[in-house]
Amino acid sequence: SKIIHVVGGGLAGSEAAWQAAQMGAKVVLHEMRPVRKTDAHQTDGLAELVCSNSFRSDDHEYNAVGLLHEEMRRCNSIIMKSGDKNKLPAGGALAVDRDAFSDDVTAALETHPNIEIDRSEVAGLPPKEWDNVILATGPLTSPALAEGIQSITNADSLSFFDAIAPIIHKDSINMDIVWAQSRYDKAGPGGTGADYLNCPMDEQQYNDFIDALLAGEKTEFKEWENVPYFDGCLPIEVMAERGRETLRFGPMKPVGLTNPRNPEVKCHAIVQLRQDNALGTLWNMVGFQTKLKYGAQADILRMIPGLEDAQFARLGGLHRNTFLNSPELLDDQLRLKAEPRLRFAGQVTGVEGYVESAGLGLVVGRLAAAQALGIEMSPPPGTTAMGALVHHITGGHLADETNGIKSFQPMNVNFGLFPPVEKPTKPEGHVGRWRGPDKAKAKKLAMTKRALEDLKSWA
Ligand code: FAD
Repeated sequence: SKIIHVVGGGLAGSEAAWQAAQMGAKVVLHEMRPVRKTDAHQTDGLAELVCSNSFRSDDHEYNAVGLLHEEMRRCNSIIMKSGDKNKLPAGGALAVDRDAFSDDVTAALETHPNIEIDRSEVAGLPPKEWDNVILATGPLTSPALAEGIQSITNADSLSFFDAIAPIIHKDSINMDIVWAQSRYDKAGPGGTGADYLNCPMDEQQYNDFIDALLAGEKTEFKEWENVPYFDGCLPIEVMAERGRETLRFGPMKPVGLTNPRNPEVKCHAIVQLRQDNALGTLWNMVGFQTKLKYGAQADILRMIPGLEDAQFARLGGLHRNTFLNSPELLDDQLRLKAEPRLRFAGQVTGVEGYVESAGLGLVVGRLAAAQALGIEMSPPPGTTAMGALVHHITGGHLADETNGIKSFQPMNVNFGLFPPVEKPTKPEGHVGRWRGPDKAKAKKLAMTKRALEDLKSWA
């Protein structure tokens, strides 16, 4: 049949339904609210913003999420159109009037001749007769559907909450202090024996760090986030509370590593970073999941030698989040390999954020419509923000083969997900080595220009 069933009328599902309908496909959008509520949504509206009212930076030249805004505008996004229409003053950010925004999206979908809206829960795997389905049920996917998805994948295919460690941009790490080495120089399959970056600490630095962790401001859980800790991923501040030496015997243990700049002196503690994407531009802090408040978190982590100027692609956190182990489970059309009639979009695929979720909805809505209409279509080029996100969730991410840990974690769009650009050209008249903020800006501009150029034919 030519009918596309979109399950979930949030940020991703609304955009997917709109895009598919605009291409001429017939869409049924299934949204369970108000029949069944989630722990975070407050209204019956489509595309409800559950927390902040900000789409973050709207700067499409120097900011990755701003670029994503612009790409989506150029692809006739209903989320961006309604966001722009209901914009509030917020400096360089795009903040929106959440109710008016949601009302506009709801009205656009309700009145679209190709869209029918069904207010009911899809309480399990969608019926077999639905042969072109988009599942966009978000971080709070209803349990019945989550169980259905698990029944056709495997037990650890879905994560139900995030205990995420911070991720750092490589070019902000001070390599005069940090060195590359694997513990005991173990190479492991495909490794070199120097796969990790190591940050050394002496006793004083360690003690100051523990004091800061204990004093740092923690985020409080809401009731619905009332999840037990797995012992394997205790937040660092919880470990510090259990004893001052706990971290030194856990993720910060100094064994099997020698600082080449000071080989005679044994480090008191060591923080390890592990490569997080195939490009090598992003590195995650091993075992450093934390629920410290963002401001405090960045300040405390910058106490670590070598990370004084660290720029974070993502800070650590802990919250309920249902998402798929997408790099293993999805093909490059975002279909479940085990059951290709099911396509996924939004936060449930392992992107993070309103705009990212909607961006994935845009891509997946078009892919599903192309299938329904018998058109060949690929995802957007990997040099675009939308393409970079698709690449992240369908396998661009580097699994940690050395330890056999699948470390796929949700992520906001950021420049670390883009393939590198040719060296930006030094401005005319510049004398000496060109580095620092101006060079970083020039790189970003080169990336965003390339993205908008490469998007043209796909859009
Ligand atoms: P959603 O927008 O949640 O949409 C999913 C929809 O599916 C919902 O309407 C739900 O009712 C429906 N649904 C679920 N199961 C079924 C079913 N079985 N049948 C039918 N319908 C179903 N991102 C930000 O950028 N800024 C923030 O401030 C922010 N705050 C967040 C706060 C919380 C508490 C959470 C959980 C997430 C937050 N996020 C935030 C992350 C994320 O961007 C949003 O959750 C975003 O809404 C995800 O879009 P989505 O379309 O994937 O899911």
